[in-house]
Amino acid sequence: MTYLAVSIGSETVETAAEQIKAAKKAGAEMLELRTDYLADLDVEKIRALLAAARKTALPLLVTCRDRVQGGAAELSPELRTRILVEAIGEGADFIDCEFDNFVLADTHEKIRAALAERPQTGLILSTHDFSGPLTNTAKVFNDIARAEPEAIPKVVYKADHINDCFAAMDLLLHGDRDAIVLCMGPAGLITRVLAKKLGAFATFAALDAAHATAPGQLTVAELKGAFRWDNIGEATEVFGVIGSPVGHSLSPAIFNACFDAQHIDALYLPLLVEGEKPEFDTFLSNIITRGGGGGTGGGLGFGGFSVTIPHKTHALDFINHAGEFVEPLAETIGAVNTLKIGFGGIVSGYNTDYAGAIDALTAAMQIGPHDLHSMKVAVVGAGGAARAVVAGLADVGARVTIYNRTINKARDLAGEFKCRYAALEKLGAMDARVLINCTSIGMCPKVDATPVPTEGLKPDMVVFDTVYNPRQTKLLKEAAVAGGMCISGIEMFIRQAMAQYKICIGQEADEEVIRKTISDRLQITEPRLQASR
Ligand code: NAP
Repeated sequence: MTYLAVSIGSETVETAAEQIKAAKKAGAEMLELRTDYLADLDVEKIRALLAAARKTALPLLVTCRDRVQGGAAELSPELRTRILVEAIGEGADFIDCEFDNFVLADTHEKIRAALAERPQTGLILSTHDFSGPLTNTAKVFNDIARAEPEAIPKVVYKADHINDCFAAMDLLLHGDRDAIVLCMGPAGLITRVLAKKLGAFATFAALDAAHATAPGQLTVAELKGAFRWDNIGEATEVFGVIGSPVGHSLSPAIFNACFDAQHIDALYLPLLVEGEKPEFDTFLSNIITRGGGGGTGGGLGFGGFSVTIPHKTHALDFINHAGEFVEPLAETIGAVNTLKIGFGGIVSGYNTDYAGAIDALTAAMQIGPHDLHSMKVAVVGAGGAARAVVAGLADVGARVTIYNRTINKARDLAGEFKCRYAALEKLGAMDARVLINCTSIGMCPKVDATPVPTEGLKPDMVVFDTVYNPRQTKLLKEAAVAGGMCISGIEMFIRQAMAQYKICIGQEADEEVIRKTISDRLQITEPRLQASR
């Protein structure tokens, strides 16, 4: 079992007792009593704290962290040892002592003697480095494991990049003993969640964001809710969105909600891969060499990814270099937004943006893709989204004109797909049946902007805004006033996500679940973003 341990850190026993009750209610599977947070710490307080915590019947882990390893207060070594010895005597299920302190003769003798009196108490020997990745994670771990074979080694360090997490996860992947290995900081999220799949002894969570006791610690609600803690097992297949940034992505919520609804043993993570091609290549190679290809294949068990900015071209290059399959239109577009990892780590690449856009357009117009043949379409923008949309439109023979602020980019894109181009200022005089905005103009928080002057909007026009937050952009509102048909970027987003789901999971996503998830999320996001303008 991997315990979901909730850290309790409070200045008084009374407020700690409140946190303990709340942690139990929130689903804690173990309580870590961070006694170093208590003001004027003494053994009486430890007794009172343990008495309050014992009422929960949860396993209790007592820690009195040294300041140099992240402790909340400057406490003498003698007091810290006395607290741990007292905790053993009071029936704590586990105590956590820093390995560096444990090896000191006085600490060692006293804790050993107390454990001999009460052998039911387990010993965790830990090391924490807040400065960055360790130069030799395996050695640090093995030194603890060899010195005290009965103890549970705990190695925690700050990851500066997600690629720093593989050394930590390897210790769990290849280990055959109870162990705790975690990375701190936002880059360490993957280690905190996958701890359960990899059979760690415990992961640590905060009661809420205000009570985190280490950088990057997730809350118990996030682990139990967004990250499906109760459903994670050894065979859970893992997916995720690779990008930078990824915090805003709706994909984790969508995929995990579908897994819940469809009872699929899978988990979807936000994977912040900072940097450019070298960092992306390192990340994907790390994943593949550690058993990509699904939950039953062992190892990390990644089955696929969504890929977003800035890695869509890096994903394409990676597959081309590996000589694996790339969907032809993804090759034409020059971007891969979906990766499927097959057995043996074979990677294939797809682009669901163009299909999402064309589907959204044709479904709203109640036509087939080939009815777009010869239709006049104005595409605003010449970036990544425009590229996918133009490729999809060119594929079915639409007559496309690209309008862009940077005219050279419009010219290059038009040259590639054999269509027309013009300056953004010409939009007022455009002649088009369909208008598609592929710029970020009008997106939250700058919701009062629109790329198209009102004189360009006509009653018989179909206006499709790929921006999906807010769902009703200024452009769409003005198009509706002009009498045109309006299509929200949400429709494209849903369809490209459903196509990704089909590729990665191998079955249809639940569209209603996706719509509800997006709707719930955007209701939360929109007012908050607008309020912070
Ligand atoms: P991108 O590659 O960075 O391209 C941005 C485009 O917007 C460029 O054409 C840029 O013009 C133009 N632009 C940005 N700010 C502008 C301004 N102030 N005035 C005039 N033009 C401006 O980004 P992308 O990946 O194509 O994404 C663009 C938008 O597409 C996103 O914001 C997103 O809302 C939407 N999108 C939606 C979906 C969906 O599923 N609904 C999927 C992908 C993207 P320059 O070339 O002159 O810089």
